[in-house]
Amino acid sequence: MTLAIAAFIFGVVLAYFNIQPEPVPWVDEPVFEAEMCERSPNTEQVVLKKSEDALKQLHPLVAKRGESFVRLASSCLDLNVRLTSGYRSAKEQNELYAQGRSKPGDVVTNAKAGQSYHNYGLAVDFVIIHNNKADYDLSADNNRNDIPDWQELGELGKALGFEWGGDWDTFPDYPHLQMDFGLSIRQLAAGKRPSNQATAPLADVLKPLVD
Ligand SMILES: [Zn+2]
Repeated sequence: MTLAIAAFIFGVVLAYFNIQPEPVPWVDEPVFEAEMCERSPNTEQVVLKKSEDALKQLHPLVAKRGESFVRLASSCLDLNVRLTSGYRSAKEQNELYAQGRSKPGDVVTNAKAGQSYHNYGLAVDFVIIHNNKADYDLSADNNRNDIPDWQELGELGKALGFEWGGDWDTFPDYPHLQMDFGLSIRQLAAGKRPSNQATAPLADVLKPLVD
């Protein structure tokens, strides 16, 4: 009897530890080393100028890390990146949703007004600019280091504390970076907002490079 109880308790303990999820690293370290970064404030400033509009009306940290994303893509990865979209009003989101449905073009989003992190200033979209053109080729290796540029940029975004849309299984969204600060779309739609002081993780190698 005592043995049966002991075996039962042992079984429960074992089951408990087996259902514990594997610890997930809080942030992916980027594929590059800090030594790879040759900071050129002038070049960064020129590149950044093209992303100015997309950086407006964002949560302060999303704007700050979004700026670092563009700067470090240039100085560390030798990739010219432009933020194409940031905050989107309900009207803008619905117009985008109509694209490929009631309006011509390709479907670019499954989110109606209020259903996207863009609507709360918590997401940015980017594109690689190569020879003055947007380069959406997922196998592009413009900096010739044998790593797809989109993968390097996804890693950089994640090292800056963003969630990268390229990691999503059902509807991968490679140009998309977001910070949810622990809030779901449902919570945001109900009026909850992250504090302006809310923080996000930052990879160790980036700490000396991001103020
Ligand atoms: Zn997006």
